[in-house]
Amino acid sequence: MPLIAAEQATQRWIEAHVGDLVALLQRLVSVPSVVGSEGPCQAVVAEIMRACCDRVDMWEPDQAWLDRHPAYFHPGTSFAGRPNVVGTIRGRGGRRSLILNAHVDVVDAGPAEAWTHDPWSGALVDGKLYGRGSVDDKAGLAAMLFAAHCLRAVGVSPDADIVRESVVDEEWGGGGTLATLQRGYRADAAIVFEPSDLDVCPASRGGQAFRITVQGQGAHPIRSYEGVSALEKALPILEGLRRLEGERQVRLRTPLFARYPIFTPIVVGKISADRIPSKVPETCVLEGLMGYAPAETYQAARRDLEARVAAVAAEDAWLRVHPPRVEWLGLNKEGAETSEAHPFVALVSAAVGDAAGRPAVLAGFPAGCDLPYLARHAGIPSVVFGPGNCAVAHGSNEHVPIAEVVAAVKALLLVMCRWCRVRGA
Ligand SMILES: [Zn+2]
Repeated sequence: MPLIAAEQATQRWIEAHVGDLVALLQRLVSVPSVVGSEGPCQAVVAEIMRACCDRVDMWEPDQAWLDRHPAYFHPGTSFAGRPNVVGTIRGRGGRRSLILNAHVDVVDAGPAEAWTHDPWSGALVDGKLYGRGSVDDKAGLAAMLFAAHCLRAVGVSPDADIVRESVVDEEWGGGGTLATLQRGYRADAAIVFEPSDLDVCPASRGGQAFRITVQGQGAHPIRSYEGVSALEKALPILEGLRRLEGERQVRLRTPLFARYPIFTPIVVGKISADRIPSKVPETCVLEGLMGYAPAETYQAARRDLEARVAAVAAEDAWLRVHPPRVEWLGLNKEGAETSEAHPFVALVSAAVGDAAGRPAVLAGFPAGCDLPYLARHAGIPSVVFGPGNCAVAHGSNEHVPIAEVVAAVKALLLVMCRWCRVRGA
C-alpha cells in the first residue's frame, strides 16, 4: 500500500541509522542476562527507555502472586535482582493501544570452545551479528527500543499508548510477562518478539517435558527367566506414543501449521534402564517432550498422553498390575491463537509486506513462548513476529541477520503508524 508522509519519514530514518541499530544490539548482547541474572542488562534497557519513553516502570515480579497463578509452574522462583522494565509512549487518548513484548533473559552460553566468536561480543561478520541472545531475543528487544527512538527523532507521536515490555524469566517459566498483567498492563493488540524469520504468527504451539517410569522385575542373567524386562515392557509404550503423535497431527492441525509435517511432536529423547547391562532391567525410564496444539489446554494434552500409556498397559498382563508412572517436568507453556481474521493480523501482515518488499508469510510459531499469557490469559489479540530463525536460538554461534533486524524495525514502525495512528507532533 502507498506510504503516507510520516511512514516514509520513519523508513528513511531507519535506513540512515542502521549503524546505530547495530550498535544498540551489540550493546544489549554484550551485557550477559542469563535467566536468573537479568538485572544488569535490564539497567541498560531502562537507561535506553528513559531517553525515548514518557514513563519507565521497573519492578521485581511478585513471587507470591506468581506462585498462585494457574499458568505459572515454578513455585519458589526468586525474582530478587530480576526486574521487568516497561517503557510507555503516551498517546493522545485514542484507541488501539499496542503492547510490544520481548524477553531480556537468555540461556547459558554453553562451552566457550564451541563458539567461533565470544558469545558476549556481538561480533558482526558477513551481515550477521553473533552472540548469546542475538536472535533470542535481543534482536526483537533492540527493534522495539530503536523504533521508539525513531518516533522521537522523526517528531511524530501516536494517538494511542505504545507499551514496551522488556521482561525476565521467559526461558524458565514466563513469570516476567505474567507479572506485567498483575501490574495492569493491557492493550488492544500485542506483538511478542521471537525469531520468526519475519513470518507473522497469530498462533504458537506449547509443550512440556515428561517422564514415564516402567516397572519390571530385575533378575541375574543365570535366572533371567525369573525376571520381567522393564525395557521390553517399555517398547509398546514407545510405539503407542509414536501412534498418538500421528493421530494428533490429524485431529489437532490448523491451517497455520500446514508447513510442518509434525507440529505437535511427541519426542522421546532419552531411554534409560538399570545401570548394569548384564541384568534383566528392573526399571526403564522414557523421557521426552510433548507439544501442545495452540488451542489445547495443557490438561487436555496431558490426558491424551496419560490415556495412551494406560491403554497400552491395559493390553499387557504385567503392566495391568504394575501400571507405568507418568510425571510432568519443568517448563510448561501452553499455546495460543488469535483469529487470522482479526484486523490486527491483516495490518501487521501488510506492514511486513511493505517493509520487507515481499508478501508476509502467515504461519504458526513452532515453539513455546510468552504469547499465551497475553492472548489466552489477558484476551489481547497478539502475534509472534521477529527477525532471525528460532532454529539457531540456544545453540553455539547463535546469530541474527542484520538485514532482517532492519526489516523488523521498519515493519514495526509501519504497524505503530497505522494501528496507533501516528501524527506529526
Ligand atoms: Zn525467545
